[in-house]
Amino acid sequence: MKTFNPAQFRSQFPALADAGVYLDSAATTLKPLAVIEATQQFYSLSAGNVHRSQFAAAQRLTERYEAARDSVATLLNAPSGKDIVWTRGTTEAINLVAQCYARPRLQPGDEIIVSEAEHHANFVPWLMVAEQTGAKVIKLPLGKDYLADLSKLPELLNERTKILALGQMSNVTGGCPDLVKAITAAHAAGAVVMVDGAQGIVHCPPDVQALDIDFYAFSAHKLYGPTGIGALYGKSELLEEMSPWLGGGKMITHVSFEGFKTQPVPYRFEAGTPNVAGVIGLSAALEWLESVDLQEAEAYSRGLATLAEAQLAKRPGFRSFRCQDSSLLAFDFTGVHHNDMVTLLAEAGISLRAGQHCAQPLLAALGVSGTLRASFAPYNTQSDVDALVKAIDNALEILVD
Ligand code: PMP
Repeated sequence: MKTFNPAQFRSQFPALADAGVYLDSAATTLKPLAVIEATQQFYSLSAGNVHRSQFAAAQRLTERYEAARDSVATLLNAPSGKDIVWTRGTTEAINLVAQCYARPRLQPGDEIIVSEAEHHANFVPWLMVAEQTGAKVIKLPLGKDYLADLSKLPELLNERTKILALGQMSNVTGGCPDLVKAITAAHAAGAVVMVDGAQGIVHCPPDVQALDIDFYAFSAHKLYGPTGIGALYGKSELLEEMSPWLGGGKMITHVSFEGFKTQPVPYRFEAGTPNVAGVIGLSAALEWLESVDLQEAEAYSRGLATLAEAQLAKRPGFRSFRCQDSSLLAFDFTGVHHNDMVTLLAEAGISLRAGQHCAQPLLAALGVSGTLRASFAPYNTQSDVDALVKAIDNALEILVD
């Protein structure tokens, strides 16, 4: 049975003992014991590489490694584990789509629509491929509610539009655009949709079939898993048509001086020894999450963000960039530089992030040079909110004349 008990959940995260008040889970989540132990066991007990050796230990490892692909497919309701490509994370997955799907298909004058709310990871790969092919990147502007304004999509989409790049959840405002509306409109115009799930995955793993998502990317480290591993989901008919971008061992079936033949999907996109430890760690995270009531956990962390926002709103000059009912709270104070504030908060043992959050176009649209961002997770508590507010009060006393 799935449950969520805040104290029990919190007790699974040894890093909390050392991390002070950790409010930076949107950058990366802390790791539960289940992931730490699985990773340690992998390094202490496993022998051999995957997909290469015949001895029993290596074969067992390969089975575990491939079973993890099925676990990711189950999480996303993808039709098969074969639709899941291992990558280093979201950034690499989106670059893979830009280089292996978009680059060979884009013609000069073709268009890629990118929402103004995107993280650089779902932005720069499209600028790069546009430069390489003569295609154009078209802005889907931010609306007043800090969400990409989907009502503008019909006038932007046309027969030249080949791709729509959209985040499931903004890493600044926490906003979640209506994916059904966006995908339906893009498909009607014949475009494929790249959904950046880096932030969304931990809050609401999508049903890629129900949403009819073409490509979806996420990173394990934002889902309680290890760094350096993530996944790309792609519709099988799209992945099948794509050639690899990295060449090397295990992505081919035959090589000679005349050329090479590639492996079927997904292996053709996975040249070289993969991040086996990362895959084992991610699969431990997914197994551990199976017992957690994610909806309850999400409601709890949103509640903490709401509480923090309500407390801080009583301080003069406070401005929130929080969208909808999110567990992310981006904010600033009039006349206070975010870097000064974050430095004082760090000295007070509050771990959060300030700056542009790898989203310069979004920050430009918001009209600010940077913000502070407190991101709440289910291992946070009300006393973390109190500590944040107290530390901000102390900082304001120093920073405001
Ligand atoms: N997109 C969003 C919305 C993100 O928040 C992040 C991570 N900050 C990324 C993409 C990139 O993820 P990664 O660095 O793990 O590749």
